[in-house]
Amino acid sequence: ELILGIESSCDETGVALVRTRGPGTVPELLSHALYSQIEMHRAYGGVVPELASRDHIRRVLPLTQKVLDDARCTLAQIDAIAFTRGPGLAGALLVGSGVACAMAAALDKPVLGVHHLEGHLLSPFLSEDPPEFPFVALLVSGGHTQLMRVDGVGQYQILGETIDDAAGEAFDKSAKLLGLPYPGGPELSRLAQGGDPEAFKLPRPLLHSGDLDFSFAGLKTAVLTQAKKLGDGLEARKADLAASTQAAIVDVLVKKTLNALKETGMKRVVVAGGVGANRLLREQLNDACRKRGIRVHYPELHLCTDNGAMIAMAAAMRIEAGQQQAEKVYAFDVKPRWPLDAIVQQPPAAAA
Ligand code: ATP
Ligand code: MG
Ligand code: FE
Repeated sequence: ELILGIESSCDETGVALVRTRGPGTVPELLSHALYSQIEMHRAYGGVVPELASRDHIRRVLPLTQKVLDDARCTLAQIDAIAFTRGPGLAGALLVGSGVACAMAAALDKPVLGVHHLEGHLLSPFLSEDPPEFPFVALLVSGGHTQLMRVDGVGQYQILGETIDDAAGEAFDKSAKLLGLPYPGGPELSRLAQGGDPEAFKLPRPLLHSGDLDFSFAGLKTAVLTQAKKLGDGLEARKADLAASTQAAIVDVLVKKTLNALKETGMKRVVVAGGVGANRLLREQLNDACRKRGIRVHYPELHLCTDNGAMIAMAAAMRIEAGQQQAEKVYAFDVKPRWPLDAIVQQPPAAAA
């Protein structure tokens, strides 16, 4: 089956074409195209929802045409259209679902709504060396930070999550305090390369809490306190503060992930979401896991943040696993708030 996927939950318009290859095999990515609105939102220091929706409208059809052309396909050959149903910005989501439903209705094809976080979670399956189930997943994006036990497509159990800010949010908010442009994560990480990670003592919240939850709100306050204390001296110490902040976030993420691996006894971990692109996180997690004989999988760098490929992939994997069917129901029902637990496939009663 040929599946077109559309992502429009926030400030990236992504479209992709994926082909299923039969049960037990990983679907194949035929083409994908992405337009990031970052430049447009930068002037406001963050995403402006109304501008985001309008821009998705401008980008989605040209991107769709490009994806079809790159794969030498026509709309008529597509078997189903997938779109991000949530969570995300309501207006932005409505563009993706509206376009998906309208195209599908015109072509008499079925549609399927995908959970954005399931897209991130399954994005490592788009890499050359895809993981095998089961595994522990560290989902670290702009809005979420969760450790999960993943036994198969749709078999997700949340082991722990952030009680306040997400890891990406911690990067972005700290970066803003340092005067870096939006989105701050990659900027802070670049600045940190020239700094001393031990220059400032910053808190590692919940590091020894005994559970697998996270908290990053206090870190941002600590960064603010340090920045104020430095006053005019901040400029000269900016790289040091950035490096110390990054070290604190990464330290907590790595330690908690190791704890999750220990608790579950699993030998495989998958990292997904925008923060998964962070170099220090990859280095430290790789080191720690190598010593323990644990395999680590990541999405390709350019597929860590939002994209259409992960949405098409998640749809294809759900269809292949027989867990969700695309249907000719063209309701524009998006779910701006939608916990990942809500889409967990209940194991058959006999197996429970
Ligand atoms: P969600 O998926 O939870 O709805 P989102 O879609 O906004 O949120 P992603 O697109 O997965 O999140 O990731 C964006 C986040 O990743 C931002 O917070 C950004 O700062 C962060 N990020 C991207 N690259 C890096 C990096 N190299 N180091 C640290 N953070 C990064
Ligand atoms: Mg984004
Ligand atoms: Fe995302």
